[in-house]
Amino acid sequence: MSSMKIGARLAVSFSVLLCLLFSVSTVSLLRFNDLASVTKSIVEVQVRRSFLAQEANQHAQSAANSLLNLLQTPMREQRIGLYAKMDAELASLDATMADATKTLLSDKDRSQVERLNVTRENYDEHFRETVEMIELEGLDHARNHYKENTQKALEALLKETSTLATSQQMRMNADLNRLKSAEASAQYTVILLSLCALIVGTVLAWLMTRSITVPIGTAVGVAESIALGDLNKAVPIGKGDEVGKLLRALEVMRNSIFTREEKILRLAYEDTLTGLPNRTRFLETFEQLPVNRAGAVAVLDIDRFALINNALGHDVGDLLLKEIGQRFSQMSGRHALVARLWGNEFAFLLEGVDKTGVSDFVESLLKLFQNPILLDGQRLDVSGTLGVAFYTQEATGGAMLLRKATLAMRNAKKRRASYAYADEINHEPTHEHLTLIGEMREALAKNEFIVHYQPKLNLALNKVTGVEALLRWMHPQKGLIPPFRFIPFAEQTGFIQEITPWLLEHVISQASDWYRTGLLVVPSINLSAYDLLNPDLVNYVRDLLTKYDLAPNHLCLEITESTLMEEPELALKHLNELSELGVKLSIDDYGSGQASLAYLKILPVNELKIDRAFITDIAETPKNAAIVRSTILLCHELGLSVVAEGAETAEEFTWLQENNSDMVQGYVVAKPMPLDIFLNWLPMNNF
Ligand code: C2E
Ligand code: CA
Ligand code: CA
Repeated sequence: MSSMKIGARLAVSFSVLLCLLFSVSTVSLLRFNDLASVTKSIVEVQVRRSFLAQEANQHAQSAANSLLNLLQTPMREQRIGLYAKMDAELASLDATMADATKTLLSDKDRSQVERLNVTRENYDEHFRETVEMIELEGLDHARNHYKENTQKALEALLKETSTLATSQQMRMNADLNRLKSAEASAQYTVILLSLCALIVGTVLAWLMTRSITVPIGTAVGVAESIALGDLNKAVPIGKGDEVGKLLRALEVMRNSIFTREEKILRLAYEDTLTGLPNRTRFLETFEQLPVNRAGAVAVLDIDRFALINNALGHDVGDLLLKEIGQRFSQMSGRHALVARLWGNEFAFLLEGVDKTGVSDFVESLLKLFQNPILLDGQRLDVSGTLGVAFYTQEATGGAMLLRKATLAMRNAKKRRASYAYADEINHEPTHEHLTLIGEMREALAKNEFIVHYQPKLNLALNKVTGVEALLRWMHPQKGLIPPFRFIPFAEQTGFIQEITPWLLEHVISQASDWYRTGLLVVPSINLSAYDLLNPDLVNYVRDLLTKYDLAPNHLCLEITESTLMEEPELALKHLNELSELGVKLSIDDYGSGQASLAYLKILPVNELKIDRAFITDIAETPKNAAIVRSTILLCHELGLSVVAEGAETAEEFTWLQENNSDMVQGYVVAKPMPLDIFLNWLPMNNF
């Protein structure tokens, strides 16, 4: 039954109940019909029979009484009236007897009626003889005859009628008894059937209720656990009925909620472009790691990504990120978790890895960029810069380590290094750094900072027309310290604001001397972001030019794209003021940052220095050659002169000559050198 649908189950149950009710009422009806027919026969037949029997008895008695009256009536005229009455009595007796003969039909009745008829005829005969004697032989004879014959016959007749009446009465009583017992049995049957119907109905109702409430209870339980978020419990397989359908619908609901939740989780924890974990997943994974373990967090930034995006389109940029993401996840495998933080930044979690392990990882990660990436049939030379932060006692949080690693990465970019460790830099000056700042201040006072000059060769004139001033620190113990070892630190600590003024005065005073001795070489000085945002810079430069009497166009200031990025509006304001002053301005390291050529239009610059990365092997690198060639053309269109930086070989030099670079600065011309060597070198290398 439980395999049937609920509707069918209800239909069956109600049909069974209806059948039971129908049979109870049919049986009751039949029984009561029986009772009615018995009652009818009692009422119609038996009562009539006993009534007829009694009536016959009464008529016989009345006739006998009339006869007795007759015997005592001596007057003939008086007797005539009695005859008539007597005849009527007898006629009534005959009619009653004829009726009884018709009504009483059983064998027993019939023999009784026959006997009654015989006694009646016998009485009739004696009665008539008595009557004849009254009229013919006188009352005495007649009385005697009556006593001897007629009275006996009358007694016999009366006996017979009363016997009949009694027997009919008895039969009626018997019928009544039968009726009573039939009634009792009908009652019993109806009660029994009703009881059966009640029991069957109750059992059916219980079974029905159970077969519906139990599975519905299960369904409710499942729905409640789904509501509480427990989606792992499978919904029991229901039967083919409506509740089964409900359970199947719940299972479908559970599955779709499960899939949707999975999707939401995926979206919350996964980077949709690369399919790698995102920053949130990275941080959560980090939080779940056991504390006090060795390891490091690394952040990698893809160099010049904005340039690639601008030049080749965002679709290619996306493909590139996907490809790089794939290479990273293949490489890091089980040892490290790789995530895409945002844009072109990726993060690596190097859990349980010691310093050697980390440096091996850094090496193999950077190796990934050695092979160019082929995308849409284009070869892309991509590089990345890494920052690494080790787990330390102070930096326990994932976000903190990511920040440290990102700072290290930025630092590496500034230094043009491919990677840097966070413990190499620190924004809060430590004791060691404070010592270093003190040392730098002392160095400045003791003139330990020296300037080397690197010539800029004008190709059209075949003459050195410019020179870049590059700072070095001649440390009494450590020897000559290159600028990348202390300039970034000086920039971070703000000490650069003491160095740059010193350098400006030093170089401007030199240039003034050269100018006066007829040496027309324009010196270039590198400005850092800090300098460019300094509100006193322009006035300071103006005062120096006046003090040393140097024409402003005999001084060039180099700025990098990243210098402009920090506070572009203020930087641009100062640049415009410097330009109005008449000082030459130059964009340094062009191509290493993320600025586009369009930017050049709004900058008041006179010169553009193409980064060494584009110049190295330019003759063999068609893509770089194309970029440099078109940059030169564009600069000339914009009225800028182009300096090719870092040319080391004759091939590079020739290529630059052939492609109309205005100037070349690089080892192929000369390395940076101290002032005296430079002043000697210049006339000897008579370009
Ligand atoms: P920069 O302004 O791009 O300077 C050019 C750098 O390229 C110099 O390194 C120079 O020695 C190097 N170089 C030039 N030709 C070649 C070549 O053919 N091959 C190779 N491999 N390198 C070449 P240096 O002197 O070590 O300076 C590094 C950076 O330090 C500079 O890059 C500049 O950003 C910064 N710097 C140097 N002096 C100063 C300064 O006085 N102030 C500021 N703010 N930064 C400075
Ligand atoms: Ca420079
Ligand atoms: Ca440069």
